[in-house]
Amino acid sequence: MAEESSRTDALIARARADAPVLLATALVAGVTLVAGLNPWSVLAFVLVMTVAVFWPRSERVQDLPVEHQEETERDENALHQVSATLAALDIPAMVLSDDAAVQFQNRAAERAFGEAVLGAHISSLLRSPGILDMVRETIATNAANQIEHSERLPSERVYIVRICPVDIPQGMNDGETQRLFVLSFRDISELRRIDRMRSDFVANASHELRTPLASLRGFIETIQGPAKSDHKAQERFLAIMLDQATRMSRLVDDLLSLSRLELKSHIAPDAKVDLVPLLEHVRDSLLPLAEDVGVEIELHLPEGKAEVTGDRDELHEVFENLIENACKYGQEGQKVDVYVKTVPGDPVEVSVVDKGPGIAAEHVPRLTERFYRVSVEDSRSKKGTGLGLAIVKHILTRHRARLIVKSELGKGTEFTVRF
Ligand code: ADP
Repeated sequence: MAEESSRTDALIARARADAPVLLATALVAGVTLVAGLNPWSVLAFVLVMTVAVFWPRSERVQDLPVEHQEETERDENALHQVSATLAALDIPAMVLSDDAAVQFQNRAAERAFGEAVLGAHISSLLRSPGILDMVRETIATNAANQIEHSERLPSERVYIVRICPVDIPQGMNDGETQRLFVLSFRDISELRRIDRMRSDFVANASHELRTPLASLRGFIETIQGPAKSDHKAQERFLAIMLDQATRMSRLVDDLLSLSRLELKSHIAPDAKVDLVPLLEHVRDSLLPLAEDVGVEIELHLPEGKAEVTGDRDELHEVFENLIENACKYGQEGQKVDVYVKTVPGDPVEVSVVDKGPGIAAEHVPRLTERFYRVSVEDSRSKKGTGLGLAIVKHILTRHRARLIVKSELGKGTEFTVRF
């Protein structure tokens, strides 16, 4: 098909080139006809002229001069060499010619920026002035360059965009090279996100420790100074100081727990754990707290075992956190139900249900973030650190289990662990 159409193109091109000859033939034919000559001889004359124009002539079949053709072949060869390598990369990359036209884009680039029209200027695909300036400069100076470029849509992404000239050696001729430009995009969005999370975490952790520390210091100074001989005040202050010190050690324990979990997050636990005795144990350990806040914990356990693959201590921590939260935050519902579902063929599920005030929908996706609390005051007054659900999520990720949160304002909350 392609060959046929190029032949037609060649014929059209020749007809265009020989248009004056054809025109002159038509003119002569017209004049002789008007002059009253034999129409058959006029027709024969027109036929001979047309065949003469379209008769294959070797120098005309070639569209391009020979040296130009060789040049094109060399260009294509260079492009082929670079493209073959870039096609294997999983980072977006493109090849540009020295007039900034896109000659090739790999699959990753297609996915990230859409399909480029080959041969079109790079600005038809990427509109960032920063990238376009850099491309222009590199083509002019031949020096590699890179910039940071961020995109907001369809999702927030940050790239290090680099352009580098590549000289491809040409055939046998010593020193002859073909110059192309490789534009590549290194996605650093995830690195940035982790960086931000780390600095947020350090800021949050120091803030959480600084508050009780400042309060401890204040009380020590008061006991040393104005309340030096006020034993009653000292007793009151010492009780608050003990509270603050306990809060700090809870926080340090939770932080250590998180970092321990992070260290082994890639190793899946392999022991068999029966959730029935485990949940009974958690319930017993939380009885004093439940009594304190006036909540009854009811377990709905299956007849037999509810076995999962996991780490007993870590799963204990998960259910202790969830049931403790249900008692503390769902206090007004006065009842916490724990359901264990073991349907053969289905994943084991444990649901902790309270009838408390519930959690507004906008908070639900963020509950497992470190230090995220619906109300900081409420959490502090209930001895929370804001790390409980982050720990739960870490443990469950290691167990290849999921945490599903359903909550309705005014009706209560359900935390389900699906193994
Ligand atoms: P905290 O130490 O503050 O309890 P968590 O990570 O355990 O931290 O919980 C994060 C936040 O999620 C809590 O501060 C609370 O606002 C909310 N939360 C957790 N469980 C419940 C629940 N059962 N009902 C209502 N809110 C809850």
